[in-house]
Amino acid sequence: MYLLHARHIGKRYQTSSGPFWALRPCSIRFPDRGLIAIEGKSGSGKSTLLHLLSGIENPSVGNVYYLGKKVSRRALPFVGEYGGMVFQHYNLIDGMSVVDNVALPAKMRGGGKKRALALLASFGLKDLAHRDVKALSGGEKQRVAICRALINDPRVVFADEPTGALDETNSIKVMDALKRISKDRLVIMVSHNRALVDVYADKRLWIEDGKVSGALNASQTKREPKKRKGRRHGWLWTFFWRNLKRNAFKDSMCFLAGMVGFLSLLMGFGYLQGNMPAMEAEQQNTLNYLSAKVSRRSEVHLPGSTLTLVKRTSPSEEETREELSGLGGFELSPDYGYFFPMAMPFRIGEDVKEPCSFCPIWDITLTQHGDTLISRGEKPSGLRFDECVVNEEFIRRYGKECFGEEVVVSQRSTVSFGGKGNEVFVEAKLRLVAVVKEFGFLNVPRVYYSLPLLERHLSTIDLIDENGDSEDIVSFVRTSSEDSPYASYDRLMFLSDPKQVASVYHLIEKGDSDLELTSDAYSLWKSFSSLSSAFVSSLSLFVCLAFIGLALILGMASFSSFVEGKKESALLLVLGAKRGEAFSIYIMESAALCALSAAFSLIFSPFLQRFLNHLLLRQFDVHDLLKMPLGSFLGIPYLVPIALVVGAIIFGLIASVIPIAVNKRISLAEELRDE
Ligand code: ADP
Ligand code: MG
Repeated sequence: MYLLHARHIGKRYQTSSGPFWALRPCSIRFPDRGLIAIEGKSGSGKSTLLHLLSGIENPSVGNVYYLGKKVSRRALPFVGEYGGMVFQHYNLIDGMSVVDNVALPAKMRGGGKKRALALLASFGLKDLAHRDVKALSGGEKQRVAICRALINDPRVVFADEPTGALDETNSIKVMDALKRISKDRLVIMVSHNRALVDVYADKRLWIEDGKVSGALNASQTKREPKKRKGRRHGWLWTFFWRNLKRNAFKDSMCFLAGMVGFLSLLMGFGYLQGNMPAMEAEQQNTLNYLSAKVSRRSEVHLPGSTLTLVKRTSPSEEETREELSGLGGFELSPDYGYFFPMAMPFRIGEDVKEPCSFCPIWDITLTQHGDTLISRGEKPSGLRFDECVVNEEFIRRYGKECFGEEVVVSQRSTVSFGGKGNEVFVEAKLRLVAVVKEFGFLNVPRVYYSLPLLERHLSTIDLIDENGDSEDIVSFVRTSSEDSPYASYDRLMFLSDPKQVASVYHLIEKGDSDLELTSDAYSLWKSFSSLSSAFVSSLSLFVCLAFIGLALILGMASFSSFVEGKKESALLLVLGAKRGEAFSIYIMESAALCALSAAFSLIFSPFLQRFLNHLLLRQFDVHDLLKMPLGSFLGIPYLVPIALVVGAIIFGLIASVIPIAVNKRISLAEELRDE
């Protein structure tokens, strides 16, 4: 068993003029100690041989054995695991101190700085230990590199032109060092400095045009490979921080992109959580919600036709009461819409305005409910028919100055009563005494008047028949037949308690009885909620798109850092890092950025939420539309923040693992070429 045994190894490259042997197949047995020099002209194949021996490159043919174990063609280079390497251009890691550089390969295996300091001292470099390697001279750097190669006490050290970049004095110092370490280990050195080789080499090999000659007369060895200590990962943090600093600009951009992504996710989630409760709170924020229309709906099949007509009639009071008995307290009234319709043009002063909504309410004094909605003016007394309440929408449409003005509305209708046509003229001069704030989004201007007072007013207007007998409008409407237009085909219902609204909406939704309920407030609420669910779907889509974009940004950024750091990764692999460790530096970076931006988004989100809610309130008149459950969600405390940060880390990992995994091949020889 030989310490190092190359069996029939060779390297062939494909060139444009056919295959080319950079190293012709050869077999070499190395002794277990001494300084072996590989000599040859430039381009003769010296480095190629060294790369094959150290495992930096795979041979085209043959294999390399270390103490009888095959070490070539493996995922990790032999030199990283069992050897040490000295490069022509040192390949120390800038920005790190001398001692940290030397200790790095040991740190990967749980070793410490102590041995590094001792090694430095034995090479007369103790005073430099805490300097940044950037500040050293070439000779010093190379001796530091030799210390680094020795830190794990390898039995084989490779050196490719170690004096190639040094002056004579320094070359001698370096050669002295190599000579010294070759006393009890194998040092394989490439050099074309014949004078130095003559003085220092124990044995030599020559290469000419890829053909190796010379004999080493190696003897067998019995020593078993040393057991390696377990791995440690603490050193990764050093590189992680180095990368963060080096990629500061790119990383800040990723951080911002992450903030945008996570904030939009949080806000979207806040909307999802907040919009229904906000709507439910707003839905009662109107005087309109307490009234509904009830009509009987029957289908009429036309004989000889496929058409079906829907016929609406005004249900009787008893029938309505029975049907709605589950609702609790409510008032019923005939609909006087024929004489005083819902939509009428009106005058403010001399100006004639477009029709707007005139809504009857049962209790104009707003004592039962609604007085909290008053934003301006005072509670109507409920004693005079001329008092009315308008909504903010009305003021917005017709101007502030109309507050306190008289709204004059009149309606002329014709009624056939007892065979005689009657002209009925109803005029109301309504004074705006109060403005109520109601859910304004999608709402229309409304004027609320007291239905009992309208009824009292109508009871003073009489109809006269052919015989000169008279009847007032109220009793006329109350006694009209159910399908007469004078009864407006429906009956009005007024709830006495806002808590009943939900049950009414439920009835409207169910809609399975003969009586049909309709409510303006319900339609408004319904349109808002369908608008809102459409918004939620598109919001989810946008958030998904934002995350695809974020994944691409993160993937690109960590991939570009990985490509920029390829040389360093190659070096780490040669120094003994595992592939996973070398890649994890870049993957950790994006996971950490994601975690950081998620954490900052969490901190920032309550402020953004408050700001957006403020804007939404101004725009849509809805309070607290966004409501992120940061405290407790589904009964689990801090579920959302924890899930966000954990999710962000996983997201960052996936976003950067994919591009790096797809492109992870690193050609060590190419990255570490000494040029
Ligand atoms: P040196 O003795 O100067 O260290 P090398 O071992 O680096 O020489 O190179 C030996 C020969 O192999 C050179 O002619 C070089 O051009 C060639 N060679 C090295 N690497 C490659 C490669 N990746 N592809 C093609 N030819 C290569
Ligand atoms: Mg070379």
